[in-house]
Amino acid sequence: MSTPTISNRPTLFEATAASQLQGLIKPAVRYVLAWYGQQGFIGSLVVARLQQVFDELYLVCALVVEAAHVFSASPSGAAERFYGLRRRSSTVVQKAAALVALVLVPFVRDKAADAASAAREVEPERRTRTQKCVAAAWPVADFAAQAVSLATKVAFMFNVVDAYNPIDLLFNMPVVRMQHEDYKALQDQLNMQSLPASASASPLYRSASIASSLLRRSLAFSTSYLVPASIFLFRFSEWWYQNQFDSLARTQEPIPPPPPSIEPHPDGTPLPENASFCPLCVSELKNPSMLSSGYVFCYPCIYRYVERHRECPVTKIPVFGGGACVRKLYSMG
Ligand SMILES: [Zn+2]
Repeated sequence: MSTPTISNRPTLFEATAASQLQGLIKPAVRYVLAWYGQQGFIGSLVVARLQQVFDELYLVCALVVEAAHVFSASPSGAAERFYGLRRRSSTVVQKAAALVALVLVPFVRDKAADAASAAREVEPERRTRTQKCVAAAWPVADFAAQAVSLATKVAFMFNVVDAYNPIDLLFNMPVVRMQHEDYKALQDQLNMQSLPASASASPLYRSASIASSLLRRSLAFSTSYLVPASIFLFRFSEWWYQNQFDSLARTQEPIPPPPPSIEPHPDGTPLPENASFCPLCVSELKNPSMLSSGYVFCYPCIYRYVERHRECPVTKIPVFGGGACVRKLYSMG
């Protein structure tokens, strides 16, 4: 196998752009789906069902689209084709590995990240054995994967290796720029597949061949125009909503005044003249604690009082929860 010449070796920026585009398609599709649901074009129940199985649904679609690109005359991922790149993969094993790298690896990574974040939300003592393992192993595995990926990219940048992705490196299928022959091979493949079936062929075969040709052409169209257009829309909407959010934060309405204080009841315990005294024991507040009425007492005084009378001594407002409703005030020391 010949090493790629300088002219057909992509720069790190091209390779990174292609892999970033790859990662953007899924959130863009998810966003468009949610948007259609919000606008009422699709029933909210349908959207909720689709969201539940979104990962699996996307996996199937991505497998079909990527397989069509990987097993074509010029093997590449859909996003790599958009950037005019292709993989130097000739064997079926290499193509299968490319498909795994493009579709299955991101799927497994997303699923593991979801499982880890779900496990982290559970309190440590309530986690199951599996959740404990996932929560502990994921950060290490993710860090290791990112470190290997970064090392490969750096090595690629300094021309040490030909592949910018660890799996591509493992299976020796570096990404190279598409040449004139590659475009021609793709066009030939498309033309050959869309040749009208001979007149002697059965009507069923003829319609099947027309349908398959339409499918392939629409697939080619989607990679060339629809994918970049949807990414642009996704980026634009991200920017647009971010701007709206920022302006909303800037033009926030003034904070409303606090609710008025509750007046003491005429038959209630009178308030001491010194605000730092407890109305119940009329001496310096010890361990100050308050009720929902806003009045402050010593903790032992008010606890015993509300346990017995179930009301605020000053305002006579009912305290149904008794001692459990007493709130300790924060104090230093
Ligand atoms: Zn007191």
